[in-house]
Amino acid sequence: MELESQKSLKHLNTFGIDVPASQYIKITSETALIQALKQHNKTPLFILSGGSNMLLTKSLDALVLHIAIKGITTQKNTENTVLVTASAGENWHDFVQYCISKNYGGLENLSLIPGYVGSSPIQNIGAYGVELKDHFVSCEAIHIATGAKKIFSKEDCLFGYRNSFFKNEGKSQYVITSVTFRLTTKEHILNTSYGAIENALSEKGISSPSIRDVADAVIMIRQSKLPDPKKIGNSGSFFKNPVISSKVFKELQQKFPEIPHYIISSSQVKVPAGWLIEKAGFKGKRFGDAGVHNKQALVLVNHGNATGKEILALAQKIQAEIKSVFGISLEAEVNIF
Ligand SMILES: Cc1cc2nc3c(=O)[nH]c(=O)nc-3n(C[C@H](O)[C@H](O)[C@H](O)COP(=O)(O)OP(=O)(O)OC[C@H]3O[C@@H](n4cnc5c(N)ncnc54)[C@H](O)[C@@H]3O)c2cc1C
Repeated sequence: MELESQKSLKHLNTFGIDVPASQYIKITSETALIQALKQHNKTPLFILSGGSNMLLTKSLDALVLHIAIKGITTQKNTENTVLVTASAGENWHDFVQYCISKNYGGLENLSLIPGYVGSSPIQNIGAYGVELKDHFVSCEAIHIATGAKKIFSKEDCLFGYRNSFFKNEGKSQYVITSVTFRLTTKEHILNTSYGAIENALSEKGISSPSIRDVADAVIMIRQSKLPDPKKIGNSGSFFKNPVISSKVFKELQQKFPEIPHYIISSSQVKVPAGWLIEKAGFKGKRFGDAGVHNKQALVLVNHGNATGKEILALAQKIQAEIKSVFGISLEAEVNIF
């Protein structure tokens, strides 16, 4: 367990923001994690996984614990299901592909989401009609203050839209060390209801898709729409899609009849934040090296040497404009430090 000082985080966050951390340790086992928490119990801590859901706006005067614990185990559950447990440091996409290679169904729609398994419950990752919570059984975590191990059930995690206990009451209190999923081994329940998946499958002439076919369709769609962080720094969707009251929505619809929307309940409607940002004229705009992606307005990008502060200033400019044009407050999905 080697402690590094003044470690650049440029290659450890997908925005590619170059800030140093005063101290850094790569954690490869639960024992090492508990030892580090004991040894450094007076130091401010920062938990880092894949760095794909964060905007770093300043140097971190903290000990960064980079959670790189590996391992996958499987247990039979019922005739049709298995329980698969992955350690926190497993790469999420590689884990999903591993499950598909074993014919374990459930996570295929979540292919190609960056990051690690350990952070997947934090914002209840979701894509193409599936959320982590749909297949989540439990996660194990270490309490930072005491080093005690705790198992969180699905109910304990209080999952919501890009939200969980770990973003609220449990924020910065636990390090998740592994996550267990219940996955199907036969009679897979496929979710192809998203139009883009259906179209991709029918273009390939696939009428009864396998979980591999669904994953391939998702990968193809994502590659065509979302910027690859290896080529251009970004953190995926920067804002959450706002949920507004039906009354406010009806007023907006009178002004903007073409506004896309998704009815959540008789009183709530979800509106795509990307549409609002595009309509406000930000799509493809660039302010120095901070910009809005030219294909997907919900994604803010680092064209090269933007600082975290510059990206944050752009995010705030967008929030102010959306408030003034539509009266809607956009909330960041990305964690800002
Ligand atoms: C191109 C792109 C596309 C994306 N698409 C999607 C998408 O479709 N759906 C979606 O939901 N998200 C998406 N994201 C966001 C991101 O990939 C997910 O939120 C992912 O789960 C973040 O994982 P990470 O390991 O990178 O977390 P990090 O960015 O390292 O950490 C995120 C937060 O969790 C905390 N944390 C990290 N690990 C742990 C741990 N083990 N225990 C406790 N706390 C921890 C960190 O302190 C931080 O607050 C996308 C991002 C990019 C760059």
